Amino acid sequence: MFYEASDNDHKHGSFSEVRQDLVSGDWVVIATGRAKRPHDFLQEGKKAFRQPKRTCPFENLHENALLSLSLGAERGKNIKPWVKVVVNKFPAFQRGVCSIFHKTGPYQWTDGVGQHEVVITRDHERSLGQMADLEAELAVRAYQERYRAIKQDECVRYISIFHNHGRGSGATLSHPHSQIIGIPVIPSDIARSIRGSAVYYEEHKECVHCVMLKFEKNDKKRLIYENDHFLVFAPFASRLAFEIRIYPKNHVSHFEDASEAEIVSVANALRVSLGKIFKGLNNPDYNFFLHTSPIDKLNSFRHYHWHFEILPKTSIWAGFEIGTGIEISTITPENAAEFLRNIKV
Ligand SMILES: [Zn+2]
Ligand SMILES: [Zn+2]
Repeated sequence: MFYEASDNDHKHGSFSEVRQDLVSGDWVVIATGRAKRPHDFLQEGKKAFRQPKRTCPFENLHENALLSLSLGAERGKNIKPWVKVVVNKFPAFQRGVCSIFHKTGPYQWTDGVGQHEVVITRDHERSLGQMADLEAELAVRAYQERYRAIKQDECVRYISIFHNHGRGSGATLSHPHSQIIGIPVIPSDIARSIRGSAVYYEEHKECVHCVMLKFEKNDKKRLIYENDHFLVFAPFASRLAFEIRIYPKNHVSHFEDASEAEIVSVANALRVSLGKIFKGLNNPDYNFFLHTSPIDKLNSFRHYHWHFEILPKTSIWAGFEIGTGIEISTITPENAAEFLRNIKV
C-alpha cells in the first residue's frame, strides 16, 4: 500500500474515493463521480408517518412508569411536558435469572435475559429535533437515569439506547419514543469498535476518538455544530449520506459518567442536529443510537469514548452493500456538513 504524506488538502478529483474508518477499520465508498447535491436528498412528496392519536397506546399509559420526569407547566398552557419510561409491552429481552451459555453441538447460545424499556415523550407528534432544549434534556436525563439503573442488573453486559424515526427506520408507532435494551452479550459492532480503539491506544498512547475530535475541530470541513461540551461532525468515512456523530469534547468512556453539564450540552447538540436534518432534508426517516463502553467492573474500557450516531435513511442497502458490508455514499461528508452547518434551527 502506498501512502502519500500530508493530505490536509483533501481533494475530490477522482471518480470515487475509498475511505477507511479510523476506529472500526471499515471501508466505505464515497461516489464523488456521481455525487449528488444536498437538495437531491430532500424527502419530497413523502407522506409523514402519522398515526391517529385515538389509537396511540402512549396517550393513556396504564403501565407503571419506571421513571417520570417533568417540567413546570408551559406558560399560558396547562400542559406539563414530560418524559415517562415504561417496560416494553413486547420485549425482545426480559428480566430473569442470569442464564449460562449452552452448547448445542458446535453452537453456543444463551437465554434472552435482560431488560427492554421505552422512553416516551409527551407530545404525539413533535420529535426531539422540534422540541425546546429543556424538553430534549428530559429525554436525555431519562436515558442516563435508566442506564444507571439497568447497569445494576447482573445479567446485563451491554445497554443499547436508540431511537427510530419514521416508518423507513423501523418505527412501528409514530408517537416519538426511544428504547433502552440491556442485553447479556457485547454486540459485535461494539466489540469491533472497542478493539479498534484499544489497538490505536496501544500504538499511539492516545484515544483515537480524541484524535479525530482534535482534527475535525481544526480542519472544520466536516464540522456541523459545536457547543460548550460537544462537537458534531460528519465522519470522514461516512457510511451514509448525512451521517452525524456527536462527541463529548472531554474524554469520558462511559455514558453513565457524563456530568450534569454534559447532559445539558448533549441534549442541545442532539436537538440541534436532529432539527437540522428535519428542516434541511424535510423530515427524513432516521435512526440514532448511543455507543458507549460495555458494563464491566474492571474498568477495562478506559480507551473508549462514548458518543451518539445519527444515520438518516437516505438510501437502501442493495446487493453490493449486503454482499460486502461496504456502503456507497453519494454525497461527500464535506458537502453534507457544509449544508447542515448552514441550516439554522
Ligand atoms: Zn401518541
Ligand atoms: Zn477520547
